[in-house]
Amino acid sequence: MYSVPECRISKAAEKRIRLGHQWIFANELLTPVKELPYGNIVKIVSDKNHLLDYAFSNPNSLITLRRLLTNTFPDSDWIKNRLENAFQFRLKNFDIPVYRLAFSEGDYLSGLTIDRFDNHYVLQITSAGMEKFLDEIVGWLKSKLNAKSIIARNETSYRKMEGLSTENVTLYGNPPENFEWNWYGIQMISNLKEGQKTGAYLDQRFHYLLMDQLSKGKKVLDLFCHTAGFGIRAAKMGAEVIAVDSSKESISLAKEIAKRNQVENRIQFIVEDANHFLKNTTYQFDTIVCDPPPLIKSRKDQKLGEIAYQKLNQRCFEKLHSNGILITFSCSHLLTTSSLFNLLVKSAKGMMVQLISTLHQPKDHPILLSHPETEYLKGYIFLKREVV
Ligand code: SAH
Repeated sequence: MYSVPECRISKAAEKRIRLGHQWIFANELLTPVKELPYGNIVKIVSDKNHLLDYAFSNPNSLITLRRLLTNTFPDSDWIKNRLENAFQFRLKNFDIPVYRLAFSEGDYLSGLTIDRFDNHYVLQITSAGMEKFLDEIVGWLKSKLNAKSIIARNETSYRKMEGLSTENVTLYGNPPENFEWNWYGIQMISNLKEGQKTGAYLDQRFHYLLMDQLSKGKKVLDLFCHTAGFGIRAAKMGAEVIAVDSSKESISLAKEIAKRNQVENRIQFIVEDANHFLKNTTYQFDTIVCDPPPLIKSRKDQKLGEIAYQKLNQRCFEKLHSNGILITFSCSHLLTTSSLFNLLVKSAKGMMVQLISTLHQPKDHPILLSHPETEYLKGYIFLKREVV
């Protein structure tokens, strides 16, 4: 039987985790870090030695303890119950079986992300402790969800910080080269094994539907389009579209999807740097979608990243007709909603711009109030008003 080591934490950390936060940092421990096991489970105890929770421990990571939110030792039932809970929530909330099935801390599954593409699953593990549950996770997907294939897209650099290797491996079955799915009338194609992220930006899929109201007879720009989820829907709804991305592979798949939806004549695809495109284009647009990759990936990028967001959005506003709409996003978790808003105020300097709506990641990427780091995708819809 594994004798579970204990890790004492400071009063301040205890106070914070009592509000529900899931991480405990190296400088909050009373037990020396070097006494902690790598990737195993420990008991978190207060300075008075009361049991507070169990956690994955990693002495090499700044996030040294990842809470497991349980009163009893987490065994294979623990992970199965958590997965089942995450699954039931999706089952009740989504009628199309393409969604994020597990969203790490957002589902009390620290370091585990799983995207479901019907019977095909793409997972990513970013904590050493979760890695030890891999067999149970794969077993559960096979037995409970009838998985036909499971891919581990473990390529992220977050794994290096946890001392894990980076790899892209098929854990089970034969994943389709391209997975096809229908998203409210649009035929989508996702490359699960080689495409960006897990093959699709599932966090944006509901926002594509915004195009239904903003496209008929309009000139639309889908900037940072990836496989043009926004642009293809806009074209289908009657827009003339320009879709820009710097990735050749993404544009090539986007063209195939456009053909599949019979809108290839309504979209001009351009492989180009987005800022370069904006600087040089002579077009003005009725609707612009601006969905850049995270421009702030770490604290050291903060200042330059903020300037980049500001300039990018300023250019977007300038390229809008009067009464045009800008739908703009940031997926940098280090940029708060209010900081983004303040930047956008500067981007709109000298123009009459009205806020129409705010946008967020969908509920299969749950934002927990107790763990603010679960929030990353923020968006705004703006109207550029005519000044008479
Ligand atoms: N809107 C897309 C997701 C965009 S993700 C969707 O819903 O699917 C960000 C995209 O920006 C990626 O496809 C990436 O290839 C692209 N990209 C990254 N840097 C870029 C740059 N400098 N110029 C243009 N595209 C860029």
